[in-house]
Amino acid sequence: MAPTVVLITGCSSGMGLAEAVHLATVSKHDFKVYATVIDLGEKGDLEKAAGDSLDKKLFIHQLDVTKEDTIKSVVDEILREDGRIDVVGIRELNNARVTGNYTGFFFYNPPSSVDIAQHLMNVNLFGPARVIQAVLPTMKKQMSGRIINTTSGTGIEGTPFLEFYSASKFALEGFSESIAPVLRKGYNIRVSILEPGAVKTHLLTRCLDPAFKIEYICGTWEEKGQQLYKDYWEKDLKPRVFAYQQPEEIAQLLEEIILSDDPHLRYQSDPLLKATAAAKLKDPTSDSVFKLFKSLR
Ligand code: NAP
Repeated sequence: MAPTVVLITGCSSGMGLAEAVHLATVSKHDFKVYATVIDLGEKGDLEKAAGDSLDKKLFIHQLDVTKEDTIKSVVDEILREDGRIDVVGIRELNNARVTGNYTGFFFYNPPSSVDIAQHLMNVNLFGPARVIQAVLPTMKKQMSGRIINTTSGTGIEGTPFLEFYSASKFALEGFSESIAPVLRKGYNIRVSILEPGAVKTHLLTRCLDPAFKIEYICGTWEEKGQQLYKDYWEKDLKPRVFAYQQPEEIAQLLEEIILSDDPHLRYQSDPLLKATAAAKLKDPTSDSVFKLFKSLR
């Protein structure tokens, strides 16, 4: 039987790296993984982690979700090699390299904040939309496919001090929820939203470092803002951050979603988030969405 062909974005580090490596090297299922990175100069960790699976089950390509030509080039390559695309897993964020520090950037770091917010939307919302647009013609022709968008707990609850990051994740949630019933009914393409809590990747390691000082984040803000943030960090954020999961746990969840015969629309990665989703959403799996529209049941 032919392997399940998977395209994953944002694999230079973190969850994307763990997911690509898990599917190619740990899973008992036969996957062929196209693991993509923005910059091939950053593929070192992925290559090392892929080990013997490199160029056998895991293939590294360059893809930037803000650049359509790079998406098209990878999709064309997959179709030339395999003639099908079974799964696309999309995960990226406007990382710290780009924004300097995205926490509280809008209200507390005013200079050029709107530009930064637009960039964040371009990566986190329009990026996945571009990738989905590129794989849809193939998945529609196949009458099958899985699309898994990574959002965040910040896409379930508006997270203080992460206003546009949170907004970008809400936007991706809305986008995913809106395409899911149509693609499911019309083309047997299943869309799922993976909502991680705190996960020990580059995003968190800075905060976990014993040398980390909260002033690194809010030290330049006005006094009241600093007070609010420090209180929020101590009482709310810090306990969540230190209850982190490992990227491999998210990779395991991704595999479960892919291999499920009837995947849910939403998956929360940890019990805290499941409780948050349950408090906010009557049905945390959100499968009720599929019953909402008579024409799309
Ligand atoms: P990470 O290690 O920084 O991984 C993010 C990946 O996205 C990197 O490989 C990065 O590439 C890539 N990326 C950034 N801009 C991109 C673009 N324009 N095109 C293609 N790839 C791009 O962080 P992570 O924690 O694994 O994050 C993965 C996803 O999980 C993100 O969507 C994030 O919002 C979400 N998330 C993370 C946490 C957490 O606690 N870590 C919690 C909830 C949700 P470069 O490194 O080469 O720039």
